[in-house]
Amino acid sequence: MILSPSSSINPNLQLIFQSQVETSYQWRISTLDERVARLKKVRAWIKDYQQDIRDALANDFSKPEPETDLTEIFPVTAEINHTIKHLKKWMQPKSVSTPLPMLGTTSKIYKEPKGTSLIISPWNYPFNLTIGPLISALAAGCTAIIKPSEMTPHTSELIARMISELFNSNEVSVILGEVAVSQALLQLPFDHIFFTGSPAVGKIVMKAAAEHLTSVTLELGGKSPVIVNEDADLKDAAEKLIWGKYVNCGQTCIAPDYVLVHKSQEEMFLSEMKVALQKMYDPDFKGIDQSPDMARIVNDKNFQRLKGYIDDAVAKGAKIAFGGKLDPQSRYIEPTILTDVTDEMLVLQEEIFGPIFPIVPYSTLEQAIAYVNSKPKPLALYYFGNDSEHASKVLGETSSGNAVINDCVIHYLHMELPFGGVNNSGIGKAHGYHGFMAFSNEKGVLKQRVGLNNVTLLRPPYGIRAKQIIESLIKWF
Ligand code: NAD
Repeated sequence: MILSPSSSINPNLQLIFQSQVETSYQWRISTLDERVARLKKVRAWIKDYQQDIRDALANDFSKPEPETDLTEIFPVTAEINHTIKHLKKWMQPKSVSTPLPMLGTTSKIYKEPKGTSLIISPWNYPFNLTIGPLISALAAGCTAIIKPSEMTPHTSELIARMISELFNSNEVSVILGEVAVSQALLQLPFDHIFFTGSPAVGKIVMKAAAEHLTSVTLELGGKSPVIVNEDADLKDAAEKLIWGKYVNCGQTCIAPDYVLVHKSQEEMFLSEMKVALQKMYDPDFKGIDQSPDMARIVNDKNFQRLKGYIDDAVAKGAKIAFGGKLDPQSRYIEPTILTDVTDEMLVLQEEIFGPIFPIVPYSTLEQAIAYVNSKPKPLALYYFGNDSEHASKVLGETSSGNAVINDCVIHYLHMELPFGGVNNSGIGKAHGYHGFMAFSNEKGVLKQRVGLNNVTLLRPPYGIRAKQIIESLIKWF
């Protein structure tokens, strides 16, 4: 791929891109050992500089160290270890059976690297969501240009340092910058774009990709609902949901966004949620703002956005059942549970992406399902309940990227499961084999024997014999 010299793209980006195109031709034939070596050096760097990663995240939004270890480092090292273990099998061409009309041929599906890739990542898990896709790209044999988020500058700069220490810019390169940089990169004819971010920007990425017919993986967001069935263990559900909601201070793409709970159990469930919050984040009754385990809102813009959601809800009649304290100085928002919410409120319209948890009572399971289906298809759906028939009903009658029964969020760590959304919450899947496939082209290869041709009898001039054979092909195959 040669870019036209008249192109308006920044010449520096063009040079890096062009050098990666050339490397991608060589990497098409990179061996298992070469790919594994690339993955191992990433793993070694992470091990050597684990404290630097923790410090960067703490500087960006006071992310607690245990959460950095659990949600930024562990998912990446798990992805690397899983990939190294299975890559040989994933890379192997897969033989397929030969249908009768193809008798005499043999066929295989090869997985070839797509080539040059662009990885654009968000701020909320800035290390994990940048290096995770890179692992899949390297496993597939792709080069990569990475554009991390401008909103977490400490982590983005650390990633730039890491990549420059491990790779030449013609292999993997980090381009730092704001939206304009992202838009300039999107003009380049990449072979694949892996984007993680909001649905609104996902649409911009897909439009730009269409210009070059570049394939995309879009890992987007949205409102992930929770249905608590009448037979659920409320204490168990509340404890799991409080952790899933408040890890990273609610700034998680798969955070439970709102809870549908049976109206007869709303009070009891609410009190279990309060107990769980107290136990996890304020065991000594000093205030949750004193907890070392609660991260902060990433920046003032998001702080104001979330404050706006609370103000809007309260102005329209919602009640603050827990929390509601805010400190703009430290960008602290106390875990806030809202009741008496309605669809006119922003909290039930927009992805919350913060520590606000609305509770929506329902009368029948059908009504809860209809409510979920009235909104765009979510990234994840969480169902709590003991009855497997009800669980099957919810799974069967709703659509979501992923679903979890009797827990939330933890499916992200399961490397055998495809991770991603559907329609508004995303296109394509990540993790393990599914991530490897996002960066691979499945090439079907058929091998014929010299001198043998299955369609000899079907060549023109088409006589009666050819017509008979075609008729039987239609009839029997
Ligand atoms: P965002 O879409 O604002 O930004 C993501 C990236 O896109 C950043 O690197 C940014 O610089 C770039 N960008 C922003 N505007 C752009 C534009 N107009 N043109 C080109 N590039 C642009 O998202 P965010 O605020 O960083 O992250 C929050 C969103 O990401 C939420 O919706 C969340 O649900 C979603 N998310 C999804 C996943 C997932 O795995 N599905 C994971 C994390 C976050």
